[in-house]
Amino acid sequence: MVIHTRVSPLIAPYGGTLVDLMVPAETRDDVKARASQLPSIHLSARSVCDLELLATGAFSPLDRFMGHVDQQRVLDEMRLQSGQLFPLPITLPIEASPALHLDRDIALRDTKNDLLAVMTLEEIYPWDLAEVAHKAFGTLDLRHPLVAEMHHWGKFNISGHLRVLQLPKHYDFQELRLTPAQTRARLEGFGYSNVVAFQTRNPLHRVHEELTKRAALEVGGVLLLHPVVGMTKPGDVDHYTRVRAYKSLATGYYDPHRILLVLLPLAMRMAGPREALWHALIRRNHGANHFIVGRDHAGPGNDSTGKPFYGPYDAQDLLQRYSAELGVNMVPFRELLYLPDEERYEEVSRIPSGTRTASISGTQVREQYLNPGQKLPSWFTRPEVAEILAETYPPRHRQGVCIWLTGLSGAGKSTTAEALTVLLLEHGRQVTLLDGDVVRTHLSKGLGFSKEDRDTNIRRIGFVAAEIVQHGGVAICAAVSPYRAARNDVRNLVGTDHFVEVFVDTPLAVCEKRDTKGMYAKARRGEIKNFTGIDDPYEAPENPEITLDTVTQTPADNARLILQHLLQRGFVRDQTTVGSNSGHANPVSYTS
Ligand code: ADP
Ligand code: ADP
Repeated sequence: MVIHTRVSPLIAPYGGTLVDLMVPAETRDDVKARASQLPSIHLSARSVCDLELLATGAFSPLDRFMGHVDQQRVLDEMRLQSGQLFPLPITLPIEASPALHLDRDIALRDTKNDLLAVMTLEEIYPWDLAEVAHKAFGTLDLRHPLVAEMHHWGKFNISGHLRVLQLPKHYDFQELRLTPAQTRARLEGFGYSNVVAFQTRNPLHRVHEELTKRAALEVGGVLLLHPVVGMTKPGDVDHYTRVRAYKSLATGYYDPHRILLVLLPLAMRMAGPREALWHALIRRNHGANHFIVGRDHAGPGNDSTGKPFYGPYDAQDLLQRYSAELGVNMVPFRELLYLPDEERYEEVSRIPSGTRTASISGTQVREQYLNPGQKLPSWFTRPEVAEILAETYPPRHRQGVCIWLTGLSGAGKSTTAEALTVLLLEHGRQVTLLDGDVVRTHLSKGLGFSKEDRDTNIRRIGFVAAEIVQHGGVAICAAVSPYRAARNDVRNLVGTDHFVEVFVDTPLAVCEKRDTKGMYAKARRGEIKNFTGIDDPYEAPENPEITLDTVTQTPADNARLILQHLLQRGFVRDQTTVGSNSGHANPVSYTS
């Protein structure tokens, strides 16, 4: 008898086999039923990501959140108790709780209370923030995003055998979310034994496309395009935008026999060199034996003294050093530049001096192209990718803005707001006017003028304004809004870059003389209590973007003043330049 065992052409997972923590389907209902009786803990978004990658074997040979001995040896030597490489601590921090007992089971749930796993509690141990920060990240500086985050973690780690009932639910891009086993099965279908993985948390431009294509040809294999969609660096382009761009690139511009796009639900640590090693180990588990590492891989930016946390090539050096043991070859990301005269990319080292080259920096992409609504050139970014980025980052004149008019009753807020609304419509913007008096007839119906009710009224108006701004509209709000704190809350809710506070600074005597609604007279007679300016305070803004004078200026003058401010900040387009591209210099830097 001949027994055929299928031998995979791919590199084996680190440690030989993929860890699989999923409870078999037959016993799942049983374990689930028992779990409903257990004490629960709720996992952070980060721990949910970690659990998913533990469960599917992406962290093989690690099969649990680390216990004390593993954690200590990882910090000191980048090795597990077994001696196998593992560069970063993967722990489950919690606050101490009397509900937790050693050798008992606990249920692990996500923030929505979905049951994910059962853990047998084998260890509860305190951990030392300073030691972890220093050894794993090389710094205690709070500018390091993970060091800052660790200050909010629980003071104890727990560890123990895991039985995972379900993976965290994802409703987006399901066809691209493959486990290590599924990724391997798909890669085997390509028929190559060499796989080069590319890790990214950024949109891909032509230079990345060139580099990854070259890498696949160089190793004589297939490219695993493996972007992180778990947690990346705060402020990164959101993954919905990025994945739409990756998809259009992968389907439109690569040889389909040479690329596999898979999303990785990893929670990054921004740990530079140690993180590069970790990334390589994770990719080996997905079937890759080559891994591309660029300049400042997984770098968290600069520390509080302005110096980078890690050297630009520390990550390449560290992976190089452990490459043989890890079984993953380090492919350095060589710097490529565009040669406009030859319409191609070339490695810097191969460009003769005196040759004209072109490049656009990340800051230039935002400030000189996306904000003013300039199209990114096709030598820099494929048109499909440029269009997706332009949708997510519309030009300033299509971004939302909130104009908040504050001042005494009768100051002229509503009158000015009406004049401004018409001017903005004339300039092609969509406007919603939220007038305090009007809002109080529906959204805030029933609210009075106690401090509490006024704050509630302002918060409601602010909530609606923030939604409008987020979706690219102009919200003009006109409410007395006498309290500074409430106005500042709205500013933070909307986002200060999109908030224009306008102080309609009309003296009380003038408002009282106008008394269009007869309110001041009533207030003076004591028929209305807590009237702003009479027997209730008005806290004038300290640093409003604009202050209006309604005594010497007409409503039309003041509306034009606000329009001018919006034009200057780019929220309104100068009508004389609409439809032309004149006035914009070509922001490419050419050097030779
Ligand atoms: P608020 O909304 O601040 O309570 P309104 O706009 O409802 O105030 O009332 C302001 C009154 O003052 C209106 O009757 C308006 O015609 C009059 N007014 C006189 N001059 C001005 C000015 N320069 N700007 C705004 N309103 C003015
Ligand atoms: P707030 O910002 O304080 O919630 P609104 O702008 O929503 O105020 O409403 C203020 C309007 O309600 C005033 O223009 C005035 O006509 C009327 N009003 C009635 N009672 C009072 C009061 N006690 N204080 C201020 N305005 C009052």
